Amino acid sequence: MKYISTRGQAPALNFEQVLLTGLASDGGLYVPATLPSFSRAEIAAMAALDYPELALKIIAPFVDDCVPAADLKAIIDDTYAEFRHNAVAPMVQLAANQWVLELFHGPTLAFKDFALQLLGRLLDYVLERKHQKVVIMGATSGDTGSAAIEGCKRCKNIDIYILHPHQRVSEVQRRQMTTVVGDKIHNLAVEGNFDDCQAMVKASFNDRSFLPADRSLVAVNSINWARIMAQIVYYFYAAVALGAPARPVAFSVPTGNFGDIFAGYLAHQMGLPVARLIIATNRNDVLHRVMTTSTYGRQPLAHTLSPSMDITVSSNFERLLFDLYDRDGAALADLMRRFDAGDIVFSEAAMIRARALFSSHCVSDQQTCEQIASSWRECAYLLDPHSAIGVAAALAADLPPEVPVITLATAHPAKFPDAIRSAGLDQAVSLPLHLKDLFERPERFAVLPNSLAAVQAHMANSISA
Ligand SMILES: *Cc1c(COP(=O)(O)O)cnc(C)c1O
Repeated sequence: MKYISTRGQAPALNFEQVLLTGLASDGGLYVPATLPSFSRAEIAAMAALDYPELALKIIAPFVDDCVPAADLKAIIDDTYAEFRHNAVAPMVQLAANQWVLELFHGPTLAFKDFALQLLGRLLDYVLERKHQKVVIMGATSGDTGSAAIEGCKRCKNIDIYILHPHQRVSEVQRRQMTTVVGDKIHNLAVEGNFDDCQAMVKASFNDRSFLPADRSLVAVNSINWARIMAQIVYYFYAAVALGAPARPVAFSVPTGNFGDIFAGYLAHQMGLPVARLIIATNRNDVLHRVMTTSTYGRQPLAHTLSPSMDITVSSNFERLLFDLYDRDGAALADLMRRFDAGDIVFSEAAMIRARALFSSHCVSDQQTCEQIASSWRECAYLLDPHSAIGVAAALAADLPPEVPVITLATAHPAKFPDAIRSAGLDQAVSLPLHLKDLFERPERFAVLPNSLAAVQAHMANSISA
């Protein structure tokens, strides 16, 4: 399997190369040159598979001959054994045709574990074989950092540095990062905001000279192809459980960076009958504005009750645009260049294609709270604020009654106790058993001034031999 850049200029790579690469050298994102596809009979047969078996079936063609089949199976089995529910991704019914797919049974209680648990293992496997060591560097405002640290904590060949804004992430989220034990895990609390952290990561990728010559820098943010790949699996898993391919289903996906929902689009392109993909956004509604006005434009960041979707630009949207513009890399490069300078308007042809599969819905903080409260009242089911946005969008969608809508529940409610309180629910949201003592565990992090030189010096001095 070859991977090509959305901007058409960077060299094609194989899976192993794409795993170790972030952005393509032309500024684009890597996508598969062609997609594997499954016949209706093959999809029907997926109903007999458990989660790791299905994951192997979906992921193997993407990994191709970069990892031998038996080793890939062992890696995938080990990855999903880490999850604390026998179904890995169980479903719960909220109403006649409303379902919730619980993606929060991994170690950090958010769907990012599905991809980052696998990514850490795949990286360590290929590095071990190449006798190579790398440094992962990332900035986080919450969920990504803890999922990346948990995913890499047993990796022998990776030093991971996660920058978070000092005293600006929730205590649960901070402790999920800082209590993980390992001498290659480095939590840096920067005395600045999230944008400062992100700017430092970006600058470090542009000039890696502060690192020893034998270490390359790897990105684990949502533009990493392997993350998208891992997320395709649960779309097939849930749809088949509800009767696909005979019965088409719809998905409602709380999204900011368009990573999770892009995986749903790929599942559709690979043969899964999907009636609709609903883009569920909070007030940071760049994607909803695209769908309703054809215009892609930045607006100031709003801080909401669903902080993991607080973004102004949706980086993975470029991957969909590539298809909407007939995989014309030059056209994409031109579009994105114009987007750097200001708002852009997409062609009517591109938007007609997008609207044939996608719809969108924007949900305010107040509606988020109302949804948390009403799902609790009506079904005794507690939604986290991100999942509540998904359910609200699913209920607002105008779909035939025979089409079940599956909302992706992206986090466990215990991760966001403030939102639960804002919804007027005062029952204690307790952490799952494996995190019960989170508040007693010792923390380890370095507080650093808001200075690139200080951060890079700290990294150079602490990197493992
Ligand atoms: C990261 C995250 C999202 C958004 O994911 P995208 O990559 O933007 O699709 C939604 N909910 C939670 C809880 C998250 O952690």
